[in-house]
Amino acid sequence: MFAEWIEGNKQRILSSTQELLQIPSVGGEPAGSDKPFGIETDRALQYMLRLGNEHGFKVKNVDGYAGHIEYGAGEDYVAVLAHLDVVPTGTGWTYPPFAAEIHDGMIYARGAIDDKGPAMAAFYGLLALKESGVPIKRRVRLILGLDEETDWRCMDYYFQQETQPWGGFTPDADFPLIYAEKGIISFELSKFRSADRSGNLTLLQVTGGERPNIVPDICQAFLVAASDEVLVRFQEDLKQYCETEHIRYSLSRHENNEIVLTVEGRSAHGSLPFLGVNAVHHMGKILRHFLNDDHELWEFVASYDTEGKFLGINGSDEITGALSCNLGILKITEQNVSLVFDVRYPIDQTRDGLVELIQGTITETGFRLRVMHDLKPLYVSQESPVVSKLLHVYETITGQSAEPITIGGGTYARTIRNGVAFGPMFPGMADIAHQRDERISVDHLLTITNLYANAIYELAKS
Ligand SMILES: [Zn+2]
Repeated sequence: MFAEWIEGNKQRILSSTQELLQIPSVGGEPAGSDKPFGIETDRALQYMLRLGNEHGFKVKNVDGYAGHIEYGAGEDYVAVLAHLDVVPTGTGWTYPPFAAEIHDGMIYARGAIDDKGPAMAAFYGLLALKESGVPIKRRVRLILGLDEETDWRCMDYYFQQETQPWGGFTPDADFPLIYAEKGIISFELSKFRSADRSGNLTLLQVTGGERPNIVPDICQAFLVAASDEVLVRFQEDLKQYCETEHIRYSLSRHENNEIVLTVEGRSAHGSLPFLGVNAVHHMGKILRHFLNDDHELWEFVASYDTEGKFLGINGSDEITGALSCNLGILKITEQNVSLVFDVRYPIDQTRDGLVELIQGTITETGFRLRVMHDLKPLYVSQESPVVSKLLHVYETITGQSAEPITIGGGTYARTIRNGVAFGPMFPGMADIAHQRDERISVDHLLTITNLYANAIYELAKS
């Protein structure tokens, strides 16, 4: 229905997408009270709102936290939730990450697929609907957040000011459609410690991992050996132990019998911790074996498992599957121990229930529990109109049959009532979000523009 319009406006769609991608909208420090996430994310929002305004939409900037572009009349509204902030570029790009150059039919840029490309596709989908003049019953709002990659303060703030929609989708994950997402909780377990320097081997510090939601691939321990002999024996025993346990490590010797032990694992996303090799866990096993000190602590770290059995929180349900637990960060100083976890829990568990279980497990250990972040699970019934309409659109446009899916990751969809994730990635596509050479093909961009135009129309017409 909108395909012809999209084909006729291809150049406009491409150049707007490139211009938006050329704004380096990595979230930054506040720049005045109206730019809570920095200058560049604000520029991206201003760009979108200006574009909306130029095409006759109602636009609103909600105090620099988020904004929206609105079309139509009617009491309730359909929400399309996208975000304009991006993660830092990292290094090693083939083409500059904020030039949005097109090579072999691909637009290369940070944000091309996550999520500025899809945001623009949704915008032109809405414009196609508007210019076609077909009647709709609900208003449509393209809501643009600026803090998705960090803390979601944009959506918290937005929905304190604005009413909830009738339903909607976020173009920020996978097709055909995601109707359930596990709950997410990240928390710290910490306690005091006093390094005992009387043993043969003294542990001064350990650091491993940087973010709760990534499987740590490196963990380093700083140790001191009481004598040369101790050090030599440790080197030999360690070699044997790590061979038997299949642990990759390296050891460097410094002055005064100081040693740096580096354990290597393999990184993976924190929602799929079983795909990685956790360097902190391996370090725990080594230190349990070789240290006399902090024995309980090392027992605890060594007992870690990705299903959360060691915390007594394991479980699963029919819809979202098993709980996953990632031990993301370990930091030990001479006075303090801190462990940070990221847990994805099935929709039949609750945050409070988990906290209670964890408290029960750690009572004897001296750990204090501090919840850092939590997101409620998402679940929209497969029978709901939002799900059935969107699946119908997907099947009609792509000609593929559509089985909706569930994930452990978190999308914006959970910030709204009756919200699901709908694209932009098609089944079998390699996930290149947050990686170097992030890109979207021109064909892909135009296909999702058509899908989003139809999706918006189906949700808004009745
Ligand atoms: Zn995203």
